[in-house]
Amino acid sequence: MDQLREKCLWEQVTTRQIQSVPLSGALKVDVCVIGGGITGLSAALHLLESGKSVALLEATRIGTGGSGRNVGLVNAGSWIAPDDAAAVLGPGVGEKFNTVMGLAPALVFDLIEKYAIDCQARHDGTLHMAHNANGAKDIQARHDQWKRRGADVELLTGAKCREYCGTDKIPTALLDRRAGTINPMGYTVGLAEAVLKLGGQIFQNSPVEAVTREGSGWLVDTAGGTVSADKVVVSTGAYTEGEWAGIKQNFFKGYYYNVASEPLTSSAADEVLKHGQGSWDTRLVLSSIRRDNEGRLILGSMGKMNNKPDWFISSWADRIQSHYFPQLGKVRWEMHWTGCIDFTPDHMVKLFEPAPGLVAANGYNGRGNTTGTVMGKAFADFLIKDDPDVLPIPFASAPELKSAGVRALAYEAGFNLYHAGQCLRVIL
Ligand SMILES: Cc1cc2nc3c(=O)[nH]c(=O)nc-3n(C[C@H](O)[C@H](O)[C@H](O)COP(=O)(O)OP(=O)(O)OC[C@H]3O[C@@H](n4cnc5c(N)ncnc54)[C@H](O)[C@@H]3O)c2cc1C
Repeated sequence: MDQLREKCLWEQVTTRQIQSVPLSGALKVDVCVIGGGITGLSAALHLLESGKSVALLEATRIGTGGSGRNVGLVNAGSWIAPDDAAAVLGPGVGEKFNTVMGLAPALVFDLIEKYAIDCQARHDGTLHMAHNANGAKDIQARHDQWKRRGADVELLTGAKCREYCGTDKIPTALLDRRAGTINPMGYTVGLAEAVLKLGGQIFQNSPVEAVTREGSGWLVDTAGGTVSADKVVVSTGAYTEGEWAGIKQNFFKGYYYNVASEPLTSSAADEVLKHGQGSWDTRLVLSSIRRDNEGRLILGSMGKMNNKPDWFISSWADRIQSHYFPQLGKVRWEMHWTGCIDFTPDHMVKLFEPAPGLVAANGYNGRGNTTGTVMGKAFADFLIKDDPDVLPIPFASAPELKSAGVRALAYEAGFNLYHAGQCLRVIL
């Protein structure tokens, strides 16, 4: 059995690191941002671009949350289809949201270009791959809905579908040319570098312990120091540490893992996703499939792998690879890593303003590269203009998700069963 390492590929290939010291003493800024992932960094960057002073407090290191360890798909739209988003949000807000999220990859790739961020960026689209006839119906519906809204999407079938996907197991795929892929740690560190370049202050290893009212502003406490700020952005998402924010009641935690192969250099490997798209299939418990710029095959799915034996992880990866890409023969898997996702029951992102000048976002449901970038910018615009119309969706009142723990356990049990079924060839 090959030796698999528990290690995040993106951490390994992103050698740039943000140097900073923990917060000490008292600091005063216009805006304090809590959480050094894509949301917080996008908020900080856009606030700095508008001339605000910003301090960002990160509990551990930049990118150690979902931002540095995800698949790297830069998706257009939200998790749910655009008609469903309009049904959940109402037609007016729903279409505004669909428009903003459809343009979200452009915002990501524009930032990458503007700040020359080195992150394996490929603006070549994504492929949503139908794994069976029902999946094909879903893909057709998504295609028609986006096409009606003028999006640059194409339904692939037959030889063209086989050529793009590199497998004959996918009858239909939705090529979304608005989207693309990145090395998410490279993107996150690049945003942090841009924040520092514009004069923002970043303090790592500075977990926030309390946020309290101070006059008309806020006092943010860490073990080593305090930040006084007029406004606060809470962007700690699924990785929220501490009970101070109360935002953990608004989502339930789920997990997602990736397994990466050694670099694949054969001519058979060149045929797998040969045009550079990242992809995911329509299974109930989806599989994501992408390459990196060294030719690795990176497979992912829902659930935890860091608590499973190596043989189980390799069997699962072998099973997915040999189903879709038998032409590769035996593949050697090098590493795996798992991360945490903030899910909401309706699969929709939520924005909160628990008190004036204090904003928070969560419920990205596994779509944070674009959603985090968009919501960070939206928070910056909102805090500068004090106009809720600049937000893609209105603030939600914060209903407590009482069964968050139970839901998380039920989901994880379901993912485990599904993957065991795949390994045993009962499912596929
Ligand atoms: C394995 C995996 C695969 C995924 N794949 C994709 C994908 O392909 N495409 C996509 O768009 N999205 C994907 N996602 C989702 C995406 O990664 C997240 O939605 C996104 O990174 C969230 O960004 P964020 O900035 O809101 O939060 P995070 O990146 O999680 O950052 C939150 C930060 O807050 C810090 N923090 C927590 N508590 C405190 C505190 N008390 N004080 C200070 N700091 C604190 C944490 O340490 C963390 O660094 C995936 C997620 C995972 C885990």
